[in-house]
Amino acid sequence: MAVVGSGPAGFYTAHRVMTKLPNAYVDMYEALPVPFGLVRHGVAPDHPEVKNCQEKFENIASSPRFRFIGNVSVGLSTPVKEQGVVKLRSLMHHYDSVLLAYGASEDKRLEIPGESTLNGIYSARRFVGWYNGLPECSNLDPALVNAREAVIIGQGNVALDVARILLEDIDVLKNTDITEHALAILSRSRVKRVHVVGRRGPMQAAFTIKEVRELMNLPSVAFHPVDRSLIPMNLNLLPRASKRLMEVILKGSEALMGRARKSWSLDNCLAPSRFLGSIQSPNDVASTEFNVMKLTDTFSPSSKTIATSQTLQLPSEVVFRSVGYKSVALPEFTAMGIQFDESRGIVNNDGLGRATRVLPTDQQTSTHRQVPGVYCAGWVKRGPTGVIASTMQDAFTTAEAIIQDWISGAEFLKSKEGTAAQGWEGVRQDEGSHTKHSVSWDQWLQIDRAERHRGMELGKQRAKFTSARDMLSVIR
Ligand code: FAD
Repeated sequence: MAVVGSGPAGFYTAHRVMTKLPNAYVDMYEALPVPFGLVRHGVAPDHPEVKNCQEKFENIASSPRFRFIGNVSVGLSTPVKEQGVVKLRSLMHHYDSVLLAYGASEDKRLEIPGESTLNGIYSARRFVGWYNGLPECSNLDPALVNAREAVIIGQGNVALDVARILLEDIDVLKNTDITEHALAILSRSRVKRVHVVGRRGPMQAAFTIKEVRELMNLPSVAFHPVDRSLIPMNLNLLPRASKRLMEVILKGSEALMGRARKSWSLDNCLAPSRFLGSIQSPNDVASTEFNVMKLTDTFSPSSKTIATSQTLQLPSEVVFRSVGYKSVALPEFTAMGIQFDESRGIVNNDGLGRATRVLPTDQQTSTHRQVPGVYCAGWVKRGPTGVIASTMQDAFTTAEAIIQDWISGAEFLKSKEGTAAQGWEGVRQDEGSHTKHSVSWDQWLQIDRAERHRGMELGKQRAKFTSARDMLSVIR
């Protein structure tokens, strides 16, 4: 089996397939020289315990039936210099099955005036990538040094991660594996006030209690009380989880507003309509204009919104857009008969992880046919939501579909030809020099050791490399 992507979805699916099919061999292709996807480049640096799943992944990778092929992107037509690239066609030719587990590499946009033209507006995905050492984001350098206020648009856990990184004491961040370039800028950041803005109210927000509580517990960071009319008076009528979350929001922070170093707020019922520059500095964002929204059913988690005639401007010199990640189709999908649902940003699948397609002749009956041997898992299967635990469950579901199909003798990619799959050897022969910079698991371990060593010198667990070139330079 070829696995495209080395995040949790790829590893957990590989693990289950290798466990239940003792003759299964897995080759895992990863576009970056380093594994683990968003566990490395998404999960916040001050949440090291979340990254413990890496130990499990290391264990999976130690199997003689597993091969890591890092720094090789599948299907991308414009590879980064010194990055390998192989065609999806080649994978589909040389393996029995291909698992698409390549996550969500883009982000959703607001599509409002000023978004693409003004400086100082960043996607949360790029900001997170910047502080976590994702090579493509290493030059972001967000304009925090002259900013006093920050607006974050979106109220999910990623938005709260961004808020926490902006508000947290720099001495706490210093001990984490946050990148050195992020530390340098964050230590000079003058951001004192963070607005976390949602289109709906606290009862509808996507964040979870743990993340809100962490923000409330930051020393010397005050919370501006939330609009009380958006939370039911009698919390006892709410389901337990919602009740606890509302209690945390209502209790607020121990830090007192006047004495706090920094502060933050949940700004609700605001839908962004445009970004504005200032007269002195027309190319830099100076404020965001919002339509004030009204909830159709204030306390219902599924409440919709209606725009009122009011607008509101929040001044801020930096804005973070945190309205979701987005998966994209690989360029060869159409040619290989794989369908991608653009509106949901997922590979069309049967819900169990089997890639499916509707042929033109099937359109009236909406018959979905399985694409033999092609499967998907993780964010590219179900959309960019869910934590590592739910991604694991979802990966196990896909693995069961693969195992079931294999045992039942269903059609696989190679089974028609009756020859053994050649895997990486076959792909290498097809793609020649395009694979010459590939990184093996042992070579990743060299990068890992070098990062830990650099970290030790700085008194922390790891100092990440932030460019592919630097990662490759320590491989012997
Ligand atoms: P990913 O983890 O994104 O892995 C996909 C991999 O595929 C990447 O390594 C990518 O480089 C690779 N790839 C992409 N394209 C190609 C290609 N063409 N060829 C080869 N390889 C390719 N969950 C928690 O449980 N706790 C948290 O604290 C937490 N924090 C998070 C913070 C942020 C900012 C984000 C965005 C997510 C967070 N999550 C957290 C969620 C968790 O990270 C995801 O559920 C999980 O990583 C999704 O796994 P995946 O394998 O589908 O995708």
